Amino acid sequence: MDLWVTEKQTEIMAISYKVKKTLHSEKTEFQELAVVETEQFGRMLLLDGIIQTTIGEEFVYHEMMAHVPLNTHPNPKKVLVIGGGDGGVIREVVKHPAVEQAVLCEIDRRVVEVSRKYLPEISCGLDDPKVTVLYADGIKHVKENPNTYDVIIVDSTDPIGPAEALFTEDFYHSVAGALTKDGIMVAQTESPFVTPDLVLSCYKRISSALPLTKVYLAHVPVYPTGMWSITMGSKTYDPEKVDKTKISSYPTRYYTPEIHYAAFALPKFVQDLLNEKAK
Ligand code: SAM
Repeated sequence: MDLWVTEKQTEIMAISYKVKKTLHSEKTEFQELAVVETEQFGRMLLLDGIIQTTIGEEFVYHEMMAHVPLNTHPNPKKVLVIGGGDGGVIREVVKHPAVEQAVLCEIDRRVVEVSRKYLPEISCGLDDPKVTVLYADGIKHVKENPNTYDVIIVDSTDPIGPAEALFTEDFYHSVAGALTKDGIMVAQTESPFVTPDLVLSCYKRISSALPLTKVYLAHVPVYPTGMWSITMGSKTYDPEKVDKTKISSYPTRYYTPEIHYAAFALPKFVQDLLNEKAK
């Protein structure tokens, strides 16, 4: 019998993957959590039926969320990841030689526990001695920790349920407050094709909290259309003015010094979208 998992990406668009096996399924306090083994990308984590990550292509998203801000900041000693319970961003963060402390603030303990069991290739970084895992709401954590982090990475689910408030202006202002005086934040900000209004509103909201705001793109195969936006808000450092020769060298599969710059070269329709900001 053929088994397929279908993510209904919008009311009018869906994507399906052929499933070999369902490995896990439960309803946590916060969401429906499932791990399935797909033919195309291997093990896949889903929350509320939305694909979060897969073994076959996770490196793109996780590397681009971590290494672009970490290599923009000259000395990212203390890093916070909000969400990201699969551990993929943390695994990348601890590769950076300057990082001394990495905190993961995930609201749903079960995402971490299930990822440890079924996605060890992704969650392995959680055992690094530099890492502290907190099970808490990221919104509360940033409010309670002013002037603390050099880099904050918001690796959230889509803006529904517990992650809805992670896309608000209030939250971005709290993130700016939790950053040190030259800190940098990045957030995953969805698809320019499918949710252009959201890309623009995140850009405007992050701009209202941090003086230097830039959008960059990564090619994430399992997210709607594959073209994914990440928005950086920085107090001082410009990601496009990084000295290429100073970019740290460690094993990556997507991120390179060239990709660091290329990711900020936006297609015309994305530039036009962001220029709406001025209107
Ligand atoms: N980047 C992935 C995506 O867009 O598909 C998301 C990866 S990660 C699994 C997202 C995590 O954010 C989830 O595990 C969810 O529990 C967590 N999360 C949602 N709202 C949160 C909040 N307010 N504070 C902390 N973590 C939160």
